[in-house]
Amino acid sequence: MKEESTAAIEEYERQIFDLRQLLEISKSLNSTLDYTILIDSILFTILGQMKVLKAGLFAKKNLDSPSFSLHRNHQGFDLRRDVEYSIPEDHPLVAYFTRAYGCLTLDEIRRSLGSLAGLEGLAALEPSLVIPLKAKGVINGILVIGERIEGDEFSATEREYVINIANLAAIAISNAFLFEMTTTDMMTKLKMKHYFYTVLLERMDRARTDRRPLSVLMLDIDHFKRFNDTYGHSCGDLVLKQTAVVLQESVRPGDLAARYGGEEFCLLLPDTDGPHAACIAERIRKGVEANRIAYEGKTLGVTVSIGAAGYDPARDISAKTLLDRADKALYLSKQEGRNRTTLSP
Ligand code: GH3
Ligand code: MG
Ligand code: MG
Repeated sequence: MKEESTAAIEEYERQIFDLRQLLEISKSLNSTLDYTILIDSILFTILGQMKVLKAGLFAKKNLDSPSFSLHRNHQGFDLRRDVEYSIPEDHPLVAYFTRAYGCLTLDEIRRSLGSLAGLEGLAALEPSLVIPLKAKGVINGILVIGERIEGDEFSATEREYVINIANLAAIAISNAFLFEMTTTDMMTKLKMKHYFYTVLLERMDRARTDRRPLSVLMLDIDHFKRFNDTYGHSCGDLVLKQTAVVLQESVRPGDLAARYGGEEFCLLLPDTDGPHAACIAERIRKGVEANRIAYEGKTLGVTVSIGAAGYDPARDISAKTLLDRADKALYLSKQEGRNRTTLSP
């Protein structure tokens, strides 16, 4: 009798410990909306909590991806070049996880689905457990973990625990997705104005404190209305999308390119002073000019006018002042004949 009650107390204590751990995990996963940081945070949590050496997450690359791809921040797995590490969104495994509760070993998946066809990428990782990330009944990621440090099979309690972590991770991913969706322009896939503004304010603060340079560019497509008027709105949309691709490909990972409005774009260039920003602007301008756009059998060219401004803490009392200076420089580029860059004095 006494032994039974001691066991019951130990079980309660374990459950309380697990709940406390989950609360901490929840706080940590919900402290960021940055997708990459979040995925790192999920994976390190899993490595620590489940005592495994390898963990990875299959997630959507962007909002309308048709498959879940192994996120580049996977931990411990050695990838092969000849394997495509992805799981199609319409694979029966995803449907299975949507219906059923729980996580599965690779053997259990093989038995449940009859084969591992279409799951070559998953199988190549030799996971010890595959765990769905499910929020509001929708699978938004698939977590895989490698062998355990101690080598044993996972107990039912451990499986329950990892599912609880996965549920928290799924909510955090769903929030990060929502954030991504509300701050991203669906047509060009660039960030939108209000997001740009928020980041610009943060970066201005940092640049002032660290005494580092910072610049912005404002770009406007030349005679854009002509594309709409001559070939129709879908041609105008294509020109916008292609120009956005050139911009995105011209910037470094720490820079930020955004769609400011209609056919206007803006760029944030950290650690870059005004003259250097004007050089980058010229490179972008030439890149846009060189780009050929194929539309209904025709080949079209497009140019942009650019205004550059280097952040000056003494003059730029707000983000608006800095952007206004870039905008005035852009206006001069237009006045002087378009397809050129002007640096704000
Ligand atoms: P400028 O060289 O002086 O900049 O001339 P512009 O024709 O580029 O400038 P204007 O401001 O006269 O025209 C911008 C046009 O962009 C007007 C608007 O209808 C169009 N536009 C804004 N957003 C979109 C969009 O999302 N898709 C398409 N197709 N057109 C858009
Ligand atoms: Mg305009
Ligand atoms: Mg224009």
